[in-house]
Amino acid sequence: MRTEFVDIHAHFLPADAVAAFGRPQLVKATGRVDNGGTAMAVLGKQVILPAALSDLDGLLADMERRGIAKRYLSIPPFLFLYELGDREADAWAAAYNDSIIELTRARPERLAPVATLPMGSPDAAVAELERVVRLGVRMVQLATNVLGRELGEDCYRPIFEALHRSGAMALLHPHYIQGRYGSNRFHLRNLVGNAFETSYSAAHLAASGVLDEFPGIRLCLSHGGGALPYLRGRLQRGGDVREDVPLADIDQVLRSFYYDSAVFSSESLDFLAAVVGADRIFYGTDFPFDMSDPLGPDERFAKFGPAVRVKLPRDLPGQPLGPFTTIPAPSEIAAGTKHGEEER
Ligand SMILES: [Zn+2]
Repeated sequence: MRTEFVDIHAHFLPADAVAAFGRPQLVKATGRVDNGGTAMAVLGKQVILPAALSDLDGLLADMERRGIAKRYLSIPPFLFLYELGDREADAWAAAYNDSIIELTRARPERLAPVATLPMGSPDAAVAELERVVRLGVRMVQLATNVLGRELGEDCYRPIFEALHRSGAMALLHPHYIQGRYGSNRFHLRNLVGNAFETSYSAAHLAASGVLDEFPGIRLCLSHGGGALPYLRGRLQRGGDVREDVPLADIDQVLRSFYYDSAVFSSESLDFLAAVVGADRIFYGTDFPFDMSDPLGPDERFAKFGPAVRVKLPRDLPGQPLGPFTTIPAPSEIAAGTKHGEEER
């Protein structure tokens, strides 16, 4: 049986989401740009979207080309819009979620929705999570901070409790980059700032006890966890020698998260697998942005060393994500070993 690869990290904006929101003074399309992209006014700022962000045929063709069986579609981060006031934020999350649920419902074998939550109000976020889970959603996407507030702060505990209870996975996606790394000269806000932001957010979640309180919670870190796996030694040393660092076993922390494979380097992916375990890594592209993975999953994971076994999720009815499908090590293929069997 051929391994069915799932893309856990891909963005899509259904064409009708903005219209369904119905607040053109806050978000509206303002026209086409030369390369076919769409210009939008978002909270008074001009944003240029790649045409592929709302092109369903193009997205499906890209999946075909790369050999991706199924894609989880999430909101592009600049549309989290946690800045909106409570009622507007609720309306925006509901408009996006209803649109992406509707779009993916027509192709459940190829596409799955990733919901966004109005994180500015934890109560509203829990209510929206519970609503979309009732509609069949198995995954949400959260920004790595809420307008500068860390997800590890006590006020967000009800959201993690609800995630834990529902079994839904949350993709933590860097956004709202603060301070020094907020400057985008040379695109470094994305290249460096995003990676640091995810690392900081994940370390804060671990140190603040969220992972201990909700063991088994499914939190997936974008871009291979940013710099987090490489910071393993520093974090462990801090936990060993400092009383104000409640990190006793950093390897256990690192293995509590899931990770996407969007690091774009086979050496980095090998290192990630060595530190966190290959079974914690999902294929993720960051489609359709220019910084998305140029390689399909077969090629991306083919470069793994022969000893590495990679498990990727398959989506089955009634289960949030999984069971996992094992990709064979090249040596097993050569030896004719049966592979691709589901692991329970
Ligand atoms: Zn992304």
